[in-house]
Amino acid sequence: MKVAVLGTGYVGLSTGVCLAEIGHEVVCIDVDERKIDLLKEGKSPIYEPRLEELLIKNSTEGRLAFTTFHQQGLREADIIIIAVGTPQSDDGRADLSYLEQAAKDLAEHIVRDCVVVVKSTVPVGTNEYVKQLLLGQLKSNVEIKMVSNPEFLRQGSAIEDTLKADRIIIGSDDVSASEKIQEMYRPLNVPFLLTDVRSAEIIKYASNAFLATKISFINAIANLCEAAGADVEDVAKGMGFDKRVGSAFLNAGIGYGGSCFPKDVKALLHTSRELGVPFSLLEETISINEHQQELLVDKALKRFGTLNGKKIAMLGLSFKPNTDDMREAPSIKIARSLTASGAEVAAFDPVAASNARKVIGDIITYVDSAVEAAKDADALFVVTEWEEFKQHDVAALLDVMKQPIIFDGRNCLDEAALKACKTIEYYPVGRPAVI
Ligand code: NAD
Repeated sequence: MKVAVLGTGYVGLSTGVCLAEIGHEVVCIDVDERKIDLLKEGKSPIYEPRLEELLIKNSTEGRLAFTTFHQQGLREADIIIIAVGTPQSDDGRADLSYLEQAAKDLAEHIVRDCVVVVKSTVPVGTNEYVKQLLLGQLKSNVEIKMVSNPEFLRQGSAIEDTLKADRIIIGSDDVSASEKIQEMYRPLNVPFLLTDVRSAEIIKYASNAFLATKISFINAIANLCEAAGADVEDVAKGMGFDKRVGSAFLNAGIGYGGSCFPKDVKALLHTSRELGVPFSLLEETISINEHQQELLVDKALKRFGTLNGKKIAMLGLSFKPNTDDMREAPSIKIARSLTASGAEVAAFDPVAASNARKVIGDIITYVDSAVEAAKDADALFVVTEWEEFKQHDVAALLDVMKQPIIFDGRNCLDEAALKACKTIEYYPVGRPAVI
C-alpha cells in the first residue's frame, strides 16, 4: 500500500519506518528541513533503539522516502497518517494548531481518494473537526474517509512497541476505511479493537491518565511507607501479585514526565471540565506528581540544612531511560531548584545532554561520565534509571565523592553493593535509608 506520514517525530518516524519494514511504500513528510535532510542521509534525528538500522535498510531497499514537500509526498498516497504534535496549551487543553495546519496542507495537496488517519493524540471530537476542516478547504474533487488510530508506543522502545503492539485501535464510522487500515496493519499480527471515532479518541487519554494515576498512587504509598518505616518495593510486589492490580507501573520514584503523560492528563481534565463532568482524581494525580518531582531536593535540604555551596552530581537527565527526550523531564525542575538553592550541579546522561542543555541551559555543568559527575560531590542524585547506572560500580563513585551520600530517585542502584560499602548514606524513595 502507498502510505504518507505527516510528521517525523517519535510517532510518525517510528510508524513510517515500521510500515515500510512490513512491505508498504512510505513517504514521510515534515516541515522541518533539518530533520528531513538528516533522514535522507540515513541518520535518525532522535535516539530510539533499532530506528536508524531500519531507517537505512528500508530507505536502501526503496520502500521509505522523505520530503518537505506535501505535494510530492501526498501525490500517490492511499492512506495518509497524521502524526504531528499536539502539545499542551497554557490553559491545559491540547494545542491543535499543528493539526489544523496539517489539515490545511492536506486539503491543498490531496489529489486522489484516500483514508486520512489521525494518529496524534487528540481530544474527543477532534477527528470530526479535522474532517470538517479538510472538506471545507479541499482543492480537488476527491473522497476522504477518516479513521482515528491513536498510538501507544513508548519512547525508548518505539520500534519494538510498533512491531509488537498490544493492540491496534481503529475508530471509524466507515466500514471500508476501517477495513483498509486493518489491511495495512495485518502483517503485524496484532489484535484489533474496532470502535467508533469518539471512543477511540477517549481510549488513548483514558489509558495514559490511568497509567499516570497508577504512578501517582504508588508514589503516595511510597511517601506513606517512608513515614511508617515500611518498604514500598515489597508493598508494590505484594500488590502486583494480584492479577487485578498487575505489577507494571508500580515503581515508586520522582514522578512521571515526558511528552505524553503530563499533557494528556491535563488535556483530559480540561475535556472533563468542558463537558461538565467532575474528575478531581486527575487533579490529585497531577498534584502528587508535582510534589514528587521536588522529593530529592527536599530530602537533600533536610539532610544538609542548606544546599548553598554544595556540589551535587546528577545521574540522568532524560525523562526516562533509552531516550534523549527532555520534554517535562523531572531533571529540569530538580536542576533549577538545586541551582536556585545555591548548589553547583554536574550532570551526566548517556544521550540526553545536548537536548538538556537546550532546556536547562548552562546553569549546570554537563560532563562525560558518572564518575566525572561524582568527583568531589557532596551528594549524588539518581534521576533517570539508565541501565548503566544500575550496573555501575557504586564503590567507584563513592571513592571520588567528597561525602558518600546518595539520593536515589528511581530506587535503581544495586542494594547488595550499597550495603557492602563501608561508609554510605543511601536515601531511596519509600524505603528505609541505609546509613
Ligand atoms: P514530535 O513533536 O516529536 O513530532 C511532530 C513532528 O511533526 C515534528 O517533526 C514537526 O516538525 C512535524 N510537523 C508539524 N506540523 C507539520 C505539518 N503541517 N506537516 C508535516 N509535519 C509537521 O511529536 P511526537 O512525540 O511524535 O507526537 C506526535 C503525536 O503522537 C502527539 O499527538 C503525541 O501526543 C502522540 N503520541 C506520542 C507518543 C510519544 O511517546 N512521543 C506516544 C503516543 C502518542
